[in-house]
Amino acid sequence: MLTSHALPASSARERAHEIARLLLEHQRGHGRPGRPGPLGPGQCRELPCTRCRDTQAEVIEPSVRADRPVRLLLPAFPGKSPNRAKVLGTLPDMAEEHALGFLDSLGASVRRIHPPGAEIVICSDGRVFSDAVGIPDDDITAYHRELGTMIESLPHGTVSLFTLDQVPEFAGLGHGGMRTALTERHAVPLELLRSRVRQGEDVPLYRAITRFLFEDGNTPEYKGSRAALQRDARARAYVVIQRSKAWGDFLARYFPGSVRLSIHPQPCATAKLGIQLGPSTGSWLTPWHGVAVDVGGRLVLMKRAEAEGLGCDLVEREGRPSHFVLRGPLRSAHEGSARSLAVHANTTAAPGSSAAPGASAVLAVPETPAVPETPAVPETPAVPEAPVVPVAPVAPVAPKEW
Ligand SMILES: [Zn+2]
Repeated sequence: MLTSHALPASSARERAHEIARLLLEHQRGHGRPGRPGPLGPGQCRELPCTRCRDTQAEVIEPSVRADRPVRLLLPAFPGKSPNRAKVLGTLPDMAEEHALGFLDSLGASVRRIHPPGAEIVICSDGRVFSDAVGIPDDDITAYHRELGTMIESLPHGTVSLFTLDQVPEFAGLGHGGMRTALTERHAVPLELLRSRVRQGEDVPLYRAITRFLFEDGNTPEYKGSRAALQRDARARAYVVIQRSKAWGDFLARYFPGSVRLSIHPQPCATAKLGIQLGPSTGSWLTPWHGVAVDVGGRLVLMKRAEAEGLGCDLVEREGRPSHFVLRGPLRSAHEGSARSLAVHANTTAAPGSSAAPGASAVLAVPETPAVPETPAVPETPAVPEAPVVPVAPVAPVAPKEW
């Protein structure tokens, strides 16, 4: 049973700021590797950002004052991308394991500031939009199971998994029924989302999700036109955003008083804090959209095709593909180098580091990643939209703010 030790207000505020500062060391910013800011209207002008710190400290302070763990929610780890040019399979691999290890360590380091520590709840959103992103529900189930096993073996025990399947109010509805109920009870209408994007809201998110969906659908098996795939990706992006926001809305009510982490960059001083799960070759790349590559004693996320293009060796564990290892001169160049390869520009992960000569020749702490990061869709979202893919009925609910 946790008890309140009635920490003096000034000490609680100080500790809350310290915890916020720690989290913000891993803030995921906008922009590209090697190009730190300015980060656009409404974005942080510096990273770590004092305005974001103050915003998060306010959420953290009541937990510190009550001497209870600080709860961090992270909607993420949905399921592996269906595009095998990006990932190794349907199950979590070293990419996820490494990211979970990072989160567990982050949670543990909160204990040094605040003894009750932190609880990081991964709210897997795969079930929430599996139909819209083209991942079979059975694959989501298997992904969750394996993710749970990885979480159980984490050394500090600060991470847990929460899925739509565990929500009592959706029990017995079946996967499709749960999605429908979530949409009906917690979503804003798609037309409202479209209108907001046209007015400039959530544009980076819309573009990133559209790009992911386009890439995921652009497989050798796809026989349609590129334009049709782009239209379809744009339409489905709205469904993904709608469901993600509905899930976020639900989580905020289910876990009140929690810090809301996000794997996407977020506007400055808003409720969500975008965090970086580790170095990668793309500012929006995640473990479930990429593979882990050992580039010389440390792991970097990249797309599978990038790793194969570099001639990396595939490593299997327990009969399953796990990650890649970079060999040869490029690895030698990276070993002993303090430089964080391809770390996002506007994180603080590589202060004062210096690259070994030649190290960036191919792996290029890149201004220009091996696979272009440029969205495969038009930059202007205000293009005529195709009719929305009828993934689920749109609930006739009143628009809500988020
Ligand atoms: Zn900020």
